[in-house]
Amino acid sequence: MQNGANNARRLFFPMSKKLRIVPLGGLGEIGKNMSVIELGEDAIIIDTGIMFPSNDMLGIDYIIPDFRYLLERKDLKIHGILYTHGHEDHTGATEYVVDAFRGVPIYATPLTAALLEVKLREAKLMNETTVNVFAPGDTLKVGPFRVDSYLIPHSIPDCVGFGIHTPYGLVVHSGDYKLDNTPIDGKRADYTKIAEFARKGVVLLMGDSTNAERPGWTPSESIVNAAFDAIFRQAKGRIIVATFASHISRIQQVAQLTTRYDRKLAIAGHSMTENAKTARRMGLLDIADESLINLDKINGVTPSKLVIMATGSQGEPSAVLSKLAHGQHRSMDVIAGDTVIISAHTIPGNEEGVSRTINRLFQRGADVIYDPIAPVHVSGHASQEEMRLLINLLNPKYFMPIHGELRHLKAHARLAAQQGIPPENIFICENGMVLEIDKGGMRRGERVPGGYVFVDGSGVGDIGRAVIKDREILARDGFVLVVVNVDATTGRLLGDPEIISRGFIYLRDANTLVEQIKSIVNDVIVNNGASNNGRRRERLQESLSRMLFNDTKRRPMVFSVINER
Ligand SMILES: [Zn+2]
Ligand SMILES: [Zn+2]
Repeated sequence: MQNGANNARRLFFPMSKKLRIVPLGGLGEIGKNMSVIELGEDAIIIDTGIMFPSNDMLGIDYIIPDFRYLLERKDLKIHGILYTHGHEDHTGATEYVVDAFRGVPIYATPLTAALLEVKLREAKLMNETTVNVFAPGDTLKVGPFRVDSYLIPHSIPDCVGFGIHTPYGLVVHSGDYKLDNTPIDGKRADYTKIAEFARKGVVLLMGDSTNAERPGWTPSESIVNAAFDAIFRQAKGRIIVATFASHISRIQQVAQLTTRYDRKLAIAGHSMTENAKTARRMGLLDIADESLINLDKINGVTPSKLVIMATGSQGEPSAVLSKLAHGQHRSMDVIAGDTVIISAHTIPGNEEGVSRTINRLFQRGADVIYDPIAPVHVSGHASQEEMRLLINLLNPKYFMPIHGELRHLKAHARLAAQQGIPPENIFICENGMVLEIDKGGMRRGERVPGGYVFVDGSGVGDIGRAVIKDREILARDGFVLVVVNVDATTGRLLGDPEIISRGFIYLRDANTLVEQIKSIVNDVIVNNGASNNGRRRERLQESLSRMLFNDTKRRPMVFSVINER
């Protein structure tokens, strides 16, 4: 998709235009990656990801970046959304961003584009954008921007990083990467392009920090093969492999072993099935038709001839593996003799769910194999030596760690300093902290919103921190509801109050507490007989809360209703 020459003049940005980097997600957290690169009034967006909620964000499906800043910058012309690769933490929010900026085109490599199209079609937004497909290594012309893409290995095919041309030099965005020299698909990093960037001059490197605390070099995806091979050789029953729905490289490995050991492969879970279908159609996932079997046909296959790939490596309750562990899957069960391989790194915060799933699977008689037991997973992200190498190869003037919690960003910054980047040229930012480059160099700019936008079943952004806090209280201490009937004319109490509680204390076994509640009701309604029911309700709620907290050391939500009869 190249037609650079005829428009060369439009690519010229005068030195007077300020370059601005606006990170909107992925800094200080793992997930919801999104950055904006601006030159004067022109801008491009790189990635629009989601983040999965932590345990304490009850009822939240996922979180998207807060891109209010872009909505408010009416003067800014957004020329395109560029994607580094197809993982959810880089693509998941595409429907929200496309919906907000209709008409802005998308740029992505074939697999990423295909995965994006699935999302856009489901959201009925295909007509609101144009998906421009490019091959890794292509140079893109996005409005007045010239962007060189380069291939980089990760854990999904078709990953790229970007070199964005600016009057101050190249801004290189690493995407997610590892310098795997023996990747499953044989496609190594485009070192030539990286060297070329260095020759042209890199003003800023924005580098993936996920594994910045990990010394050494991340093992190649290929080493997982040996561990898997040993398991496949020994397993007598079915083999169930759980990994991320988008981990195409792992699906490929498992498919190869399936054929080698004369088994059939079934794929469970909507997202993984869709991803595999897309990748196969693009020729990026090689599985023969005769190796595949539909999930509803697996009962006719001898257990020793079957492999099932599934989602749920993070213990997510709605994914296949967790349903299997709890005996809740509609079409299959885990049976004694099954070997379950959990081929994924547990994302911090998910340990509990993963551990519960593993225990349940053991209970059902399966043999469960996971990372400390056997090397069935390697990270898709660079470790320290690879980070050093990338910094050395590119030799950037400024450095900005991205993709990671603060500790990862700090660790990455330390590495950059050790490689000779002056500490004053290293910028650790949080989401929403703007960086500006002009003739005078790079410095911090203003701060724009960069927080969380929660998405749950009912909508986007209408769930705030307060609602989550309520859900936390309800989950932890439950609630107590007291319904009181009073005479409308005399204000006198009619009968006993009705006390309802859930998740707090089993009231039938708590006679003293019930008596205390009755006595408080009596006190507030009879002795404190304020005429205003609103006031009485408030007072009742307060006294009940105080008593319950003192007596039970719990803080249930307390509601009271006063009916006038
Ligand atoms: Zn990724
Ligand atoms: Zn990522």
